[in-house]
Amino acid sequence: MHKLLGIEFRKVDIKLWDEKASAYDLYINNELRSRLYLDLEARSSKRGGAWMNNWQSHCLDEKGKEILYSAYIVCNFPASSDTAPSLLRHDDVVTLFHEMGHALHHMLSTVNENSVSGVNGVEWDAVEFPSQFVESFAYEPQVLKLFALHHNSG
Ligand SMILES: [Zn+2]
Repeated sequence: MHKLLGIEFRKVDIKLWDEKASAYDLYINNELRSRLYLDLEARSSKRGGAWMNNWQSHCLDEKGKEILYSAYIVCNFPASSDTAPSLLRHDDVVTLFHEMGHALHHMLSTVNENSVSGVNGVEWDAVEFPSQFVESFAYEPQVLKLFALHHNSG
């Protein structure tokens, strides 16, 4: 995402609802813009499937104070263990890219009205455009070469 859009994710060291969940702050030109939470691995208490949801939309409050975005991506990828990371198949990568497209649609908006900020108030067919756009990069050899390696052999 940094190479494509010039945005930067910085991991945040905070305690979350599960030890395998993580949080990243999104910076643009060194300015904090939003926070993204990732909860990617399957566990017995979690609903199946994958989705992005918005916790907070970008807006101005009644005093004109800027409220920043937050969003989360939930997936059910294979659980990591003490001896192996979460091992993704290609269709898992496509899913993650798809949900990241939804998250970026939400997190990169600059609209100030809560009801139409980010993914709010967008028709479903239009909501799926950014997700499918980012998803398409999961089929690009140059993109896959950046991270798609066998965890043992490289
Ligand atoms: Zn979607």
